[in-house]
Amino acid sequence: MPISQTSNTFISAIKAFSDNYIWCIQTKNNQSAVLVDPGDADVCITYIKKHNLILTAILITHRHPDHVGGVSKLKSFCQQQGWPLTIYGPTLEATEHCHVKLKDGDSISLKELNIEFTVLDVPGHTLGHIAYLGDDNLFCGDTLFSAGCGRVFDGTYEQLHHSLNKLANLADKTRIYCAHEYTLANLDFALAVDTHNSELINFHNQVRIRREQNKSTIPSSIAIEKKINPFLRCFDHAIQESAHQYSHTPMTSELATFTVLRQWKNSF
Ligand SMILES: [Zn+2]
Repeated sequence: MPISQTSNTFISAIKAFSDNYIWCIQTKNNQSAVLVDPGDADVCITYIKKHNLILTAILITHRHPDHVGGVSKLKSFCQQQGWPLTIYGPTLEATEHCHVKLKDGDSISLKELNIEFTVLDVPGHTLGHIAYLGDDNLFCGDTLFSAGCGRVFDGTYEQLHHSLNKLANLADKTRIYCAHEYTLANLDFALAVDTHNSELINFHNQVRIRREQNKSTIPSSIAIEKKINPFLRCFDHAIQESAHQYSHTPMTSELATFTVLRQWKNSF
């Protein structure tokens, strides 16, 4: 069941592993489909067959196995079907099956879907992580989650902080299609950090009900995240004070607060 519709485009979630979302972008006009970060080929092939789709492109945000693990098998599947497939991925990461390597400012045109995507470099979770923005839909992998953000693996805290600020500056209406259903656990942390934020408390209640009903909390939006996500709110005095109480170090910059929050969350 499609959970979002913009103009002629449908975006559906294919669930994979315990909490991954593989996003499938379709159009009303034809059978073409595009997958974002297909970590598991089998669930995608089942979905494609069930909905009588033709896979024409794969968008990869970064090299982690739960995002690229299904690419090789999907490539073979498309070859068997005789479907031409284009695989897009980040320039700075060794994603072996990519046909087109992308970097900040590049744009790609998916003609079958009549969508253009702009590529944003968003390093931090990994060094070469990219995001795709088109039609006010942002596919941001493991960079920004609802009420949280990705861990720092081979990037730096400074890079991730910068990348999140870059995303926070997108239009408020931008829908956030991240790759995991982590919202409820992220909110537990957010509430520990930003205790008196009434928007956050209300959002937590809504998310708790959605999850009790086994409904997805994604997409979120930039407007929502700017109100409730502590990692986008390091300018906030209450959050800086929480980071100070936790770390017993002075919060001399937003980056210092961000770094403490991210390290705190790792052991929360
Ligand atoms: Zn990852």
